[in-house]
Amino acid sequence: MAKRDYYKVLDVARNATEDELKKSYRRLAMKFHPDRNPGDKEAEEKFKEAKEAYEVLSDAQKRAAYDQHGHDGIDAMRQGAGAGGFAGAEAFGDIFGDVFGDIFGGGRRGGRNQSFRGADLRYEVELDLHEAVFGRALEIEIAKLVECETCHGSGAAKGSQPTNCETCAGSGNVRVSQGPFVLQQTCPRCRGTGKVIRNPCDSCLGQGRVRRQKKLSIKIPPGVDSGDRVRLAGEGEAGRNGGPPGDLYVEVSVRDHSIFERDGPHLSCEVPVSFVTAAIGGSVEVPTLDGQVNLKIPAETQSGRVFRLRDKGVKPARGGERGDLFCRVVVETPVNLTSAQRELLNKFEASIREGGAKHVPREKSFFEGVKKFFKRD
Ligand SMILES: [Zn+2]
Ligand SMILES: [Zn+2]
Repeated sequence: MAKRDYYKVLDVARNATEDELKKSYRRLAMKFHPDRNPGDKEAEEKFKEAKEAYEVLSDAQKRAAYDQHGHDGIDAMRQGAGAGGFAGAEAFGDIFGDVFGDIFGGGRRGGRNQSFRGADLRYEVELDLHEAVFGRALEIEIAKLVECETCHGSGAAKGSQPTNCETCAGSGNVRVSQGPFVLQQTCPRCRGTGKVIRNPCDSCLGQGRVRRQKKLSIKIPPGVDSGDRVRLAGEGEAGRNGGPPGDLYVEVSVRDHSIFERDGPHLSCEVPVSFVTAAIGGSVEVPTLDGQVNLKIPAETQSGRVFRLRDKGVKPARGGERGDLFCRVVVETPVNLTSAQRELLNKFEASIREGGAKHVPREKSFFEGVKKFFKRD
């Protein structure tokens, strides 16, 4: 039966707006709805016809295909959906890409039964700074789905084989009518594998995979930082229906260190220095990743001064130069003084006061600033 023009069916002009289409379709649907016309074959046909016309014209892309190529355009779309290939693919490629792209899962035009890649797994490992900087080998144990040892992944009992699914004839896909369109969907019976297991394996109950605790040796490379991930290809869960396994991602987090703070490749730490050493100079022992080093403290070093030890930081696992170690001097006020020490300090203070501001330049400029502040008003 020749199809009527969709615009004529809906009784609208070819440039009808969406609103006009909707109004007209509602009117016709009310009039010819099967509930209102029980047993009326003609009304039922008219209702279907209006529904089909509206489904095409209310969809901008389908409407464009119809405007350009008429019913042939829509037929081609339907064949494209059903048969996984159709004449004139070039002409409609752009339209089908948009309309059916999601159904085909990114351009896969059905037909073949599907294999499924196994899931990726994630494992978190906490390292201390030393391990993160120098790398570490460790054994981990994870529960994951692996290929069933009894049936080698087929899911069928010993001596039997999976058979082709009858619902989809082994293709893994079925065609479903939705309004005027035929959509291809994953076969609900075999869930896309194209195979049915009549005699399931006892060990995996036909799943082809079983959950097992697996021990793995992994190597964390030197220089990793919190948030870094180490990928172990193929160590995720087993695939289904011959699909490849997923990957295992080992995610690193690095514990805070009592002395060092890390900022990418650089490390920093505070170095306590006695006020005598800070005043007359000397040296202090500083811990680094490569062992203790001597840090020279020049005379008249103030608290907060930062010394940079080049190449005493971390060489990042992602690549790049080894960082530096920044040592921030903290002049330490002595505590638990004996009366003799107090006496010495009192004498010392008196001699400093005698010398005046030249010994305490900061103190002088600070108090001058305070005076200026109060003189303002
Ligand atoms: Zn099995
Ligand atoms: Zn099937």
